[in-house]
Amino acid sequence: AKGAGRNRFSYFTPALQVAALNRMRLTNDLRGAVKGNQLRVYFQPIVHLRTGRIHKAEALVRWQHPQRGLVSPLEFIPLAESSGLIVEIGEWVFKEAARWVRQWRSQHHPDFQVSVNQSPLEFQRDGQGYEHWFAHLQELGLKGSAILVEITEGLLLDAGSGVTDKLLQLRDHGIQVALDDFGTGYSSLSYLKKFDIDYLKIDRSFTRNLAPQSSDMALSEAIIVMAHKLGLKVVAEGVETAEQRALLLRAGCDYGQGYLFAPPLPAAEFDAMLKAQLAI
Ligand code: C2E
Ligand code: CA
Ligand code: CA
Ligand code: CA
Repeated sequence: AKGAGRNRFSYFTPALQVAALNRMRLTNDLRGAVKGNQLRVYFQPIVHLRTGRIHKAEALVRWQHPQRGLVSPLEFIPLAESSGLIVEIGEWVFKEAARWVRQWRSQHHPDFQVSVNQSPLEFQRDGQGYEHWFAHLQELGLKGSAILVEITEGLLLDAGSGVTDKLLQLRDHGIQVALDDFGTGYSSLSYLKKFDIDYLKIDRSFTRNLAPQSSDMALSEAIIVMAHKLGLKVVAEGVETAEQRALLLRAGCDYGQGYLFAPPLPAAEFDAMLKAQLAI
């Protein structure tokens, strides 16, 4: 019986072991990635649909692994979260975002904004608020409105007073807040009333299926109307076609983000895109 147990054990483990080992190795490599200069921040334009102008950009982290090449955030962000490394990574992303938004505010538009993603773990960091962010922005001579924070609905679902306090703290300093991936999670509309949120980002799973008379079209229209009534602006994620853009515009959506406009770009390329837009 003992032998059979051992057999069963060895029969089932290899694939799991390989996956677990892979995760361990990657997490270990990630530890050195920040200091080893392997992280990059890409910027994806957020376009004002009516005018077609780039008003904002979302900062999205990339990992240039020395052996594996570019590793997707979908793979390494979960590892960063479970290992706690996300805090260090997020701080670095924030500083890069601040550095670039300063340049774009002075060279492109004084109201330009860069948004940064904050995992629940980063947002709820024990005993620490965003004071060091405010100090950093002040050092750079930037107003809080230069930065937009993207959070997800899950954070608001079990929001203790800590979450509410931090949202208020951000607001007091002029940093705006966007609710990311709207429609994928628990999507209680009551959050929008209860918390001071400035932007709602419609998840790309809705955008993907937009077609006249489709149910996702009806849902998107309803979300946009409701958001506007509550004083929020709406960003549609994952806009890939001109038809989607037209339907969103007709539904009154404020902003679009997606491959139709541009994929996430290295800062220098994004910068060139802004300059080209100025020439139009
Ligand atoms: P997200 O915040 O929902 O970011 C949008 C994702 O959609 C990005 O994936 C972007 O490249 C992708 N995307 C943009 N336009 C299109 C489109 O038209 N079609 C399609 N199919 N995809 C599009 P990415 O960069 O791979 O990031 C994946 C996720 O990783 C992000 O989802 C976010 O949750 C997380 N993430 C990325 N950077 C950071 C970061 O600095 N901090 C934290 N905490 N999370 C991050
Ligand atoms: Ca986001
Ligand atoms: Ca999103
Ligand atoms: Ca997402």
